[in-house]
Amino acid sequence: MPRSLTSHSQADSWMSAADVVQLNMAAKQQAEQAYEDQGASLAACRQLHDAALSCTIFGYLPPVRLSCIRSLTHPSYSGPCLHPDCHMQHCRGNRLIVQREHPLQLAIDLPHHKTQAAHGFKPIQFTVPAGLAELLYLLIGQPHQVLTQAAAHVLLDAPCPFVFMTKTGQGFKDSQLCTYWNAWLVAHGGSPMPPSKLRHVFVAERRSDDRAAGPSDAAAARVMGHSADQWSKSYDVHLHSRESQNAVDAMSTWRQHMLQRQAGTAPLPSAAAALPQDDGVVYISDDDDDDVEIVLD
Ligand SMILES: [Zn+2]
Repeated sequence: MPRSLTSHSQADSWMSAADVVQLNMAAKQQAEQAYEDQGASLAACRQLHDAALSCTIFGYLPPVRLSCIRSLTHPSYSGPCLHPDCHMQHCRGNRLIVQREHPLQLAIDLPHHKTQAAHGFKPIQFTVPAGLAELLYLLIGQPHQVLTQAAAHVLLDAPCPFVFMTKTGQGFKDSQLCTYWNAWLVAHGGSPMPPSKLRHVFVAERRSDDRAAGPSDAAAARVMGHSADQWSKSYDVHLHSRESQNAVDAMSTWRQHMLQRQAGTAPLPSAAAALPQDDGVVYISDDDDDDVEIVLD
């Protein structure tokens, strides 16, 4: 059985892009309010961290790979690239950069994303959108220190170099981030879903008939670290059924041509032109990501 059938039914049970965006915006507002009300309490700092994490995962950016998000280093980190397989000279790794404080401008630089070779080893770089920049800027200040200090019992050699950290003050592993974010989502009223699935959810919205105004497919795909062509191969879970339906619908035209040909009213070559185009059957793989996915009960 083509895997697309399984993916299709799963896709329909995941939260929609609109649902996740709404949930994230509410969480951001609550976290900012809690920080204002409570100051830098551990709970308020963690709440801010989680909202910033979730907003970085979805809503403000075309959904970049989780490995890019968890490996983002804090602007104060000036050590070597932390990517385990880095062979690039002078590489500073995936990082969050404060370009300017007044007015605030942050940037994200991702030299390490999965398809570097396809990009000619060019990094993915962009300026962080305003709302997310404010949230991240807030997080990397005192809250980041508070979260690090709260984990001091772990006897860390140095503060966590990453923007996002576990409750023990360390950078996330892929599987930890999946579990952590999924638990956060459920605690905020969402349905269980591995965060990497948001890449599929995003593409499904962009490829839907009522897609909202937004980025072009090509540009969004570039930020996601691949091409719009790959959307069709790996992320557009409805492509198979849509193409199948188009082919079935086009049979009506084709049948008319067959009847006309039989009656001698249509020249032979035009019949071929009405045939549904055979682009080859595209089976949708579940995911082309390296990001580890947890199995949700
Ligand atoms: Zn590197």
